[in-house]
Amino acid sequence: AVVIEIEGVTKLYRMGAETIHALRGVRLSIRRNEYLAIMGPSGSGKSTLMNMLGCLDTPTAGRYDFNGKNVAHMDDNELAEIRNREIGFVFQTFNLLPRSNALHNVELPLIYAGVPKHTRIERAREALEHVGLGDRIHHRPNELSGGQRQRVAIARALVTRPSIILADEPTGNLDSKTGVEIMALFEQLYEQGNTIIVVTHEEDIARHARRIVRLRDGLVESDAAA
Ligand code: ADP
Ligand code: ADP
Repeated sequence: AVVIEIEGVTKLYRMGAETIHALRGVRLSIRRNEYLAIMGPSGSGKSTLMNMLGCLDTPTAGRYDFNGKNVAHMDDNELAEIRNREIGFVFQTFNLLPRSNALHNVELPLIYAGVPKHTRIERAREALEHVGLGDRIHHRPNELSGGQRQRVAIARALVTRPSIILADEPTGNLDSKTGVEIMALFEQLYEQGNTIIVVTHEEDIARHARRIVRLRDGLVESDAAA
């Protein structure tokens, strides 16, 4: 099944009298259970495409269907709904609550989703076990290594059972060995049926994915198996 279908997507930014073409007709189709890296030099449109894929922004023109629903014309509330239900975000800086332990950080999206307390705890615990942190659930972020913090963030992304995991430079704050471990964790999640999209500018990281989409000047320059 196709999860994401993007066709002829353009994005313009106005800067005073100037118009910047950040995306110029991008075409991209992502099926359920893919492990994809999006690459490209600085200014090629990665962040713009990432914001589009994450339903944080809509295209200036073109088609964007998410699970068969046209999101290109949705309003902010409808977009937030898709983000909360369908997308698990992973960030370069982990974005964990510093005063909360791992369990509470992972439980958080389930609070927003209105899941009852005992179910939340059970699912948060399961998600942490799933990423290999079953013995760290009461640790706060500053009591964990960088790689462990990113695992907590990945557990938080997984706990709502989203359609896609969207990771923005997830290894950018990690040493290269830990970065490769995080990509191996994504591979394991992919093998279990998840759909993983990683935006990165690091070749060594991207080659751990199964498919690499390269952007240049707002266009898909190549799209091939890794
Ligand atoms: P990348 O993430 O690959 O570095 P971006 O998507 O950030 O690329 O940027 C693509 C182009 O769009 C660049 O020329 C950038 O300067 C421009 N751009 C990005 N965001 C904005 C914005 N909010 N306002 C104006 N121009 C922008
Ligand atoms: P709401 O409109 O319901 O308050 P938000 O816009 O605050 O929702 O966030 C909805 C979802 O989008 C959250 O899961 C949040 O983690 C994610 N999100 C918000 N801002 C960003 C961002 N800049 N980059 C990536 N994800 C974001």
